[in-house]
Order: sequence, then C-alpha cells, then structure tokens
Amino acid sequence: MGLDTDTIRRDFPILDRSVNDTPLVYLDNAATTHTPAQVYDTYEDYYSRYNANVHRGIHTLSHEASRAYEAAHDRLAEFVGADGREEIVFTKNTTEAMNLVAYGWGVNRLDPGDAIVTTEMEHHASLVTWQQIAEKTGADLRYIRVTADGTLDMEHARELIDDDVELVSVAHVSNVLGTVNPVRDLAALTHDHGGVILVDGAQSVPTRPVDVETLDADFLAFSGHKMAGPTGIGCLYGKRHRLEAMEPFLFGGEMISHVTFDDASWNDLPWKFEAGTPPIAEGIALAAAADYLDDIGMDAVREHEAALARYLIDELDARDDIEYYGPPGAVERSGLVSFNVDGVHGHDLSELLDGHGIAVRAGDHCTQPLHDILDVPGSVRASFYVYNTRSEIDTLLDALEDAQRKRDHLLTDRYHDLIAE
Ligand code: PMP
Repeated sequence: MGLDTDTIRRDFPILDRSVNDTPLVYLDNAATTHTPAQVYDTYEDYYSRYNANVHRGIHTLSHEASRAYEAAHDRLAEFVGADGREEIVFTKNTTEAMNLVAYGWGVNRLDPGDAIVTTEMEHHASLVTWQQIAEKTGADLRYIRVTADGTLDMEHARELIDDDVELVSVAHVSNVLGTVNPVRDLAALTHDHGGVILVDGAQSVPTRPVDVETLDADFLAFSGHKMAGPTGIGCLYGKRHRLEAMEPFLFGGEMISHVTFDDASWNDLPWKFEAGTPPIAEGIALAAAADYLDDIGMDAVREHEAALARYLIDELDARDDIEYYGPPGAVERSGLVSFNVDGVHGHDLSELLDGHGIAVRAGDHCTQPLHDILDVPGSVRASFYVYNTRSEIDTLLDALEDAQRKRDHLLTDRYHDLIAE
C-alpha cells in the first residue's frame, strides 16, 4: 500500500502556497525537504518553554534543555542503528561531519604512501575535502569509475582498494544519478584491506532505512534539512572505538574534561566533538523529524520515492529529446531524476518550470567532475519526498512539453556559454 499523501500533506502547510499564481509543486527535495508541523512545533516548544544552554546551568531550564538535547542523540542513534549516544556527534550538516573525519582522523593518520579511495560520483563535500586532505598529507587519491549506466564499476573498486588504502569515502546514494551504491560490499572490501569506510548518507538516511551495523560503516554523515528536520544540524555517526581514537577538530568549551595553562584533556563521547554551544533547538527538532519519519516507516518512504522515480523515468523514456542520467528504471534507484531537454539550457528550463509553480534544481549539483563525465555542463533535477504525488509529476511532464514547444524562443546552450565566457 502506498503512502497516504493527502494526510501527510496536511502536516506541511507550505505545500498549500502558490508560486506564480499556480499551486506549488516542490520537487527540490534532494536540496532540502520541507518541515512538518510536528517538527517546528517541537522547535517552538523549546523556545517558548525551556530555552537554556545545555550542560552548564544548575537550574531547571538548563536541566530540561540538557535532557532533551542528550535524548535527541539517543533518538538519532536509534534511527540509524548506532550503539548509543556516544556514537552520534551533532554537526552543522553533512559537509561538516565529513570534514570532522577528514581533520580529526585523516590529517592525523595519513602519510605519503597511503591511499584514499572515493568515487567519480561524489558530492563536492566529499571530493573536495579528500582532495585537500590528500594534498596536505601526501596520500594518493583514487576514484572508482562510474559505468555508462551510472553505477559504480565494482571491478575497478576491487583493483583500487588495496593494502595502501586507509580510507574509502563513498556516497550511499548519488545526488545526481540516484544510484544506490553497494556500501556493504565496499565496506567488506575496505575492511579486508585494513581500511575504514566513511559513508555519505546525505541522500540515503532521509529516504531509506539505513542501519550502520548492517552496512558495517565506520562513519556515516547526514544532514537534518534533507530529512524533514531543520537546517543548521547534521550528524556524524562513528563506531565508538573509531571516535575514541580520533582527535577533536574544534577546540573550546564543552569539549574538554580538564584544562590547565599547559594542557587540556577531552570530554567523553560525543561531547568531545561538540565544542561550544551546540545547535540545541535544532538537535531536539531533528529527533522529532526522526519520530515523524519512523511513524511513516522508512521502508514505505523508500517505496514511495522509488515508485515516483520509476514513473517519471518511464515517461521520460518515451520522449526522444529528453536525456536522463543514472540507472534505467528497472535498476534500484532513489527518488530523484536528473535530466536535460535537448536544446534547452537548464537554467531556462528551471525558470520556465518556476513559472508553472514547479521547483526543481538546475546546475551541477555540487558534482562538477561527474558532469564532465556525463559531458554536459549541468542538469535539471527533480527529487521527491513523502508528500509528492504522481499528479505532481504529471504537472512536471506537461510543463516539459511546454518547454519543448517554446524551445526556439529560449536561449540556446551555445548562447549561455557565450554569456559565461
Ligand atoms: N553529499 C550529498 C550526496 C549531498 O547530496 C549533499 C547535499 N546536496 C551533501 C553531501 C552536502 O550536504 P550539506 O549541504 O547539508 O552539508
């Protein structure tokens, strides 16, 4: 049985608004999802009843805030199958969570002769970060190839992951191709060679059941704002012994145990990695987002998204002058589809769709090297969440036909390139 989108949509008042005098069709969920009333009510409840700094005050409000903030770590641990709050560090977003591993673990451990393996389909949050760490440490950076159908070349992965490899950093779900990568197999391969694996869960944790134990991930990074939670909060899951062995990345208050003029020692996990005043309201609201998604059921979320993606892909398959990227409809993929309409620049298309009230994303989606491989400057991405419906995809398809009709009046790719020069 599918999701009851009528009921779900009532939790998201923003979906009732109009854009350009037409009902909003929000298909930019891979960039950020909307927030249900249950989540922002939790946020408001914090500010209206027990706003206080955590771990500091010996007063009732601070105790209440501390308890709720700590319980939020427990809730997120449960959401991804971690072994308790010690394994969940709150960060600003996925990007910061990845940088925490890069600086807390990578810089301190990697030397010339070591290797980092990542993939050609990584978001810049991973790709640029590991480029920087490779440059700083002298480690070799290797990329697993993407095949023509948008999946990872596992033969190539087996060639690249050898005993020199200390770290493998891989997106669980590609934010452009929608590919669901075989993280479990990559984790087994990495561990066989004595390395650790960091999984970029920015697109997977919000959209499918993710269990760190099943994946055997050493680290998992994800963002609150892509999973019906607030902005300004993300998570780094780390296996306890990995986090214990890792150096802090930010220093200051709250992350210390004892300080003298000469030295300092670190607080227990996870607080050792949460320097300064943390995102308290955001953390508590993120736990409410986890409750919200679990009430729907993550299996149901995955099925819903996959069905919408399949529907759009089947329709695009029937249109000659639209090219989409990533695995064909029959292969498991996530609820996003990136495409180009022949002869129409992505920015024009996105603007035209906005005229129909449709929000999509156009550009390189922070994956410039992947777009180089696809041999296009960018793409237009439609991405779905729990509140999207087939009829919204029909609206998109009608609007794409409108773009095709108006093609001759829109700027050509060549013209856009000239402007950019
Ligand atoms: N990785 C992937 C796969 C993503 O899709 C994104 C967000 N587009 C990120 C990392 C970075 O997430 P954030 O901007 O929340 O740090």
